[in-house]
Amino acid sequence: MKKITFLLFVLTATSNLSLATSIFNSDVENLIATMRAPTPVITDLKQLTDEIGGRLTGTQANKNAVNWALHKFHQAKVSAKKESFTMPKAWLEKSISAKVFNGSFSFSPRIVAMPFTKGTDYQGLTADIININKGDSQSFNQANTKNALKGKWLLVETAVLDDESGIHGLFQEYLDAVGIEERALAVEAAGIIYMSSRSQNLLYRHLPSTGADNEVPIIVMGRESALRTQRLLNSGKKLKLTAKINIFGEDSYQADNVIAEIKGDTYPDEIVLIGAHIDSFDLGTGALDNGSNVSLVIDIARQIKKLDIVPKRTIRFALFNGEEQGIYGSLGYTKTHAEELDKHVIAATIDIGTGAINGFFVNGREDIKTTVNHVLTPVADLGPFILMNDPVVGTDNYDFMMQGVANLVASQTDANYASNYHAESDTFDKVDQKQLKLNSVIMAATILGIANLETIPWQRQTAEQVVNMVDKYDIEASMKTFGLHKSWTENTRGIKH
Ligand SMILES: [Zn+2]
Repeated sequence: MKKITFLLFVLTATSNLSLATSIFNSDVENLIATMRAPTPVITDLKQLTDEIGGRLTGTQANKNAVNWALHKFHQAKVSAKKESFTMPKAWLEKSISAKVFNGSFSFSPRIVAMPFTKGTDYQGLTADIININKGDSQSFNQANTKNALKGKWLLVETAVLDDESGIHGLFQEYLDAVGIEERALAVEAAGIIYMSSRSQNLLYRHLPSTGADNEVPIIVMGRESALRTQRLLNSGKKLKLTAKINIFGEDSYQADNVIAEIKGDTYPDEIVLIGAHIDSFDLGTGALDNGSNVSLVIDIARQIKKLDIVPKRTIRFALFNGEEQGIYGSLGYTKTHAEELDKHVIAATIDIGTGAINGFFVNGREDIKTTVNHVLTPVADLGPFILMNDPVVGTDNYDFMMQGVANLVASQTDANYASNYHAESDTFDKVDQKQLKLNSVIMAATILGIANLETIPWQRQTAEQVVNMVDKYDIEASMKTFGLHKSWTENTRGIKH
């Protein structure tokens, strides 16, 4: 009973408040108040992750997620449609198993294949295992006397990736992989065995540095089993590994982004975009990466519509697909909307789970900082916010940035992102529900704030400016880690230069 009275009090108090704000305050402040109050963002996320689950692009679950999101926008009376784009290759691990053995004993470690690894025949791929330590060039040179690595499985030792090593540790893992994979290809190794960087035999997968062009079988082995294998090798035992890898593979196919929009009334042809990727890897249920922020994007659209807010500029809500396998959905969007890119005022994306937003990466765009700081003032109590110049490579801002479109990536605290990254453990229970709500408030204020500006004091960059950005911030090493460097130098992706 007490509870009900309290609830009634709260309801009365909030409705009075919203009446007051609707008379005296701006649309942005109304939206902030509404986003702070309970909304369906958490129940949506629970549905997406528990009922639909992991949603690798190309799978039925991914299609289900696309239809689910479309339905959510339509339920909120926000106009939305699917937009198809091309994925270069289909890849799905159907089953996998491994056996480590010698003449006198054997064990069967848990393994997964890295994306775009080719399957084996039913007998599997059997070869000697060589311990290549951390896989740096010195280790390769020492071990490869008389072509000793040719045709062998190379066991690579990794550093533990946990919440302490965080996102920095994760990027180091990606950076190290570029050299390891190049060297393994050069010595004609049979394949690479990465020791899982997470303890407790937790498995994960992420894109190899060569992306869909990957030619080397790459597997991740449960850390404890890989350590056991390494100890045995170090004690002089000779070991072989048989990996049976059953892959569904196919050439290019079509997948769908979900694109929703709320039309602006003053500058309807100018577009302010907010996006998150709807696909995930298939081992976990993609709660932190990136279901949380899919729900956030949908919820912002829903609340703007519910408040009958008509922004000055058109706000586009993009749920990009194919991000995990090479950032193909947002690439597809920039191709489909090539004629409109000059009119894209900003493309903001969010992709670091539910870590607290502590600012934005402005991706080399000094010229947008003053304005972004300005639109953050209504949510100053959730700050402080820091704007960082560093261009982010590896998520959906990439093709906007490389097309000269001003873009933002939410900068977030590491929280529990790294330890669960692309792993079996990326599930709903890892989500910081309270912080997700606060992040949605910050993103909503930023997007509507920019959409409602009187004037936009920046423009799309020229090819020359984009080339300068690549040089100035030296992002080519990062481009290599995500298989994006070749297409830039070959002038097949990004602004023609
Ligand atoms: Zn992601």
